[in-house]
Amino acid sequence: MNFYTTIMGSGAAVPTLMRHCSGQVVNVGGYRLLLDCGEGTQHQMRAYRQKLQSVQLICISHLHGDHFFGLPGLLATLHLCGRTLPVTVIAPQGARQALDVLLALSSTRLDYELRVIELSHADKRLVFTSPRCQIWAFPIWHSVPTYGFIIEEVSRSQSRPRSMAYCSDTGYHEELADYVRDVDLLCLESTFADDMMSVAGEKQHLTASQAAQIAQQAQVGQLLLTHFSARYRESDVFLQQASAVFPNVVLAEDGLVVPVSYSKSPARL
Ligand SMILES: [Zn+2]
Ligand SMILES: [Zn+2]
Repeated sequence: MNFYTTIMGSGAAVPTLMRHCSGQVVNVGGYRLLLDCGEGTQHQMRAYRQKLQSVQLICISHLHGDHFFGLPGLLATLHLCGRTLPVTVIAPQGARQALDVLLALSSTRLDYELRVIELSHADKRLVFTSPRCQIWAFPIWHSVPTYGFIIEEVSRSQSRPRSMAYCSDTGYHEELADYVRDVDLLCLESTFADDMMSVAGEKQHLTASQAAQIAQQAQVGQLLLTHFSARYRESDVFLQQASAVFPNVVLAEDGLVVPVSYSKSPARL
């Protein structure tokens, strides 16, 4: 079964010509979901040939603009392009109110059902199931309520299901490793390199080596770093610092396709 994520945006805070704001389209056996929807995500979906109408579920980590401001525009475009199938949004508490206000003030009518599942729990919970995948959400550490997600395939065979975790944005806490233990692909933010460790702590973000420490502690298969600050023109430093702690690291870039592969032989599990 296909299981991969395609990066729509890999930058932090502000869009640049090199990196757009956060967004990833995950394909699990043909079921497509969007992880975060920063400004410009719908443009990036067109640029990287992701059919807008094929997205069935949208998971928003938190309501900071670089993860959320693209959503009202995308929802409006789906309507204008004739959508009738429901769209489900999973997001922290407040998303429903924010969307209702924006859509009402702009007289935007949606001819499809917009379902919003709001998150306010303080532990790890199963929040969504479909025939292809299950979604778990858990709180992470940031300046506003923020959730990480685990996408786990629903496997029809005897082997264990593959899974990926997505955590952006978060400060460094060892407990994060417990939430994402043994996933095959861990996508973590790495806003800063290690030269900015104190700033990362203040702003509740991760550095490259901190993200790698989480990956190491959690015994994941592969670490995918994303959400890079625009202050870094070259990304090699992230790879060098993370690889010194955890061996299997890949850096996100806009348009990159990253498969979720078995990190351990399924026959032995
Ligand atoms: Zn962010
Ligand atoms: Zn944020």
